[in-house]
Amino acid sequence: MGINEVWSWVETDKGKILDIGLKIAAETVRFSKQTGVKPCAVVSGEAKEEIGRLKRYGIRKVYVLEADDGSHPDVVPSLQGLSQLLAAIQPDHLLFAANSLGNEWAARLSIRFQAGVLGEIVDYGKSKGKLQLRKKAYGGNVHALFTLEGGAMSILTISLDALEKLEQPVEELEIVPFSCRCEQPRIVLQKVEPIHWSELSLHEADFVIGVGRGVTKEGMRTIQKLAEKWNCPIGGSKVADESGLITREFRIGASGKNIACHIYLAIGISGAPHHLAGIKEVKHLVVINPETNAPITENAELVIAMDFEKVIPFLLEMQTETLEVVS
Ligand SMILES: Cc1cc2nc3c(=O)[nH]c(=O)nc-3n(C[C@H](O)[C@H](O)[C@H](O)COP(=O)(O)OP(=O)(O)OC[C@H]3O[C@@H](n4cnc5c(N)ncnc54)[C@H](O)[C@@H]3O)c2cc1C
Repeated sequence: MGINEVWSWVETDKGKILDIGLKIAAETVRFSKQTGVKPCAVVSGEAKEEIGRLKRYGIRKVYVLEADDGSHPDVVPSLQGLSQLLAAIQPDHLLFAANSLGNEWAARLSIRFQAGVLGEIVDYGKSKGKLQLRKKAYGGNVHALFTLEGGAMSILTISLDALEKLEQPVEELEIVPFSCRCEQPRIVLQKVEPIHWSELSLHEADFVIGVGRGVTKEGMRTIQKLAEKWNCPIGGSKVADESGLITREFRIGASGKNIACHIYLAIGISGAPHHLAGIKEVKHLVVINPETNAPITENAELVIAMDFEKVIPFLLEMQTETLEVVS
């Protein structure tokens, strides 16, 4: 038996808790309501100043990983620290967001601790007293259902499409520092290079271009030049997917991906409710559409009410420095 806790790994970067970290924290609380265990988080001490933010999403206890000496100041306590914490205490469940880091760590830790592991969960709920988990299988064509039978710790990754940054504030947050040995890793990060725009995921990009029925195949070529210039992925509506402008995995909306980028530039998209469902968390919406009463214009901060073919050449000429992302 575990200690009646569910933990989530809250991802940070340079002392800041990432959006994905807040989402998985909120998910931990939803999970705890189904399982009756305490919602807790584990976070690297590099984000010490930000830990209070987790109260807003309903987390009740946070384990803070601190390096026990300053001998390797460039090594942020992360997988090493989490692994040492798990060797000392084990929760009933450990959740990760199903991004590349979450999926990799879940697999590595499940082998190290002989825990049950299940990835890319899209939904879960109680059935006949047991927790039933649903995940996509066979390339997403079917859903497979699993039950948690108790026993050893389970490690789960939750599909990014299922994560929502739901606020459910609590008053108290217990903070538990955990001191870990940080050894210089054998594989050392040398530098970070930008990924080509066509390989960027809609979930992780700051800036996303969306295309819809108003965009032609020829027009798509100039929009791709813009994506290349700004290094951002191109998603779009269901119509854009069905007409071959984008592939299925880049569909945004109720039957596609939810995005939470800083800027979403919607080109030739009307803003049907199914599309708007996928852009609720976008911070700044910019629209290119000559139809000024299209629903997508309602929440836009800027509407360029023109034919996109006239606007894109102008954007291609613009100085990139003027497009610095602001939050
Ligand atoms: C079960 C179900 C699930 C669905 N899931 C999704 C989903 O996940 N995502 C999704 O997007 N849709 C989804 N849909 C479809 C959705 O209801 C709409 O049909 C779709 O979003 C419309 O796509 P659109 O905005 O590209 O096209 P339209 O609604 O036809 O809009 C095209 C827009 O382009 C503008 N335009 C035309 N020419 C130009 C030009 N030269 N320059 C600039 N603008 C121009 C027009 O003014 C218009 O506003 C779903 C539907 C169903 C039934």
